[in-house]
Amino acid sequence: PLDTTIPDPSVVCLIGASGSGKSTWASTWPATQILELDAFRAMVSDDAGCQEATADAVFALQAVLEARLARRRMTIVDGTNSEKSVRAGLVATARRYGMPTVALVVPTPLPVCVERQSSRPRSRRVPEHVVRAQHAATAGAVSGLPAEGFDHVVVADNLGRLLPFLQRLSG
Ligand code: ATP
Ligand code: MG
Repeated sequence: PLDTTIPDPSVVCLIGASGSGKSTWASTWPATQILELDAFRAMVSDDAGCQEATADAVFALQAVLEARLARRRMTIVDGTNSEKSVRAGLVATARRYGMPTVALVVPTPLPVCVERQSSRPRSRRVPEHVVRAQHAATAGAVSGLPAEGFDHVVVADNLGRLLPFLQRLSG
């Protein structure tokens, strides 16, 4: 059976299309525990939406991730993470530090993800065809997440599985 708990410490890999609500879920953890790829893009380029800055942002995120894992600190990786190779890198890094891994899937319906783009500033808007591809990749990845090596797989789509978050928010 799937283990749907979220241990502390662990590495939580958020998975979901742009606009699905990943950063909203991430914000239920303390800010210092959240490594948001967009924030690293902004740190290296002054532009959170700068795709050209992705490689440098990933490099910087990886350095902070490893510094935290060496200290066994709870860490939330807030990026789309819809590509298998990206997830494989995160699982491999966590393993090297002996940290358990959690895949936290945010399966918001595609039309909602697309609609949410329209209320964003233009520079933060993700084109519909990109959101669509991210959404399809997320849906296609869910069943394979345990085999990818995630120790815990949580789908943020029903009240039972949301309870740990609600308890954390209220307590
Ligand atoms: P990106 O990958 O582009 O960073 P994201 O997955 O982090 O996107 P968020 O920024 O968390 O998405 O959410 C997108 C928008 O949807 C935000 O305006 C947020 O307030 C809203 N939102 C997120 N979750 C919910 C929710 N459960 N109910 C209502 N609105 C939500
Ligand atoms: Mg986000």
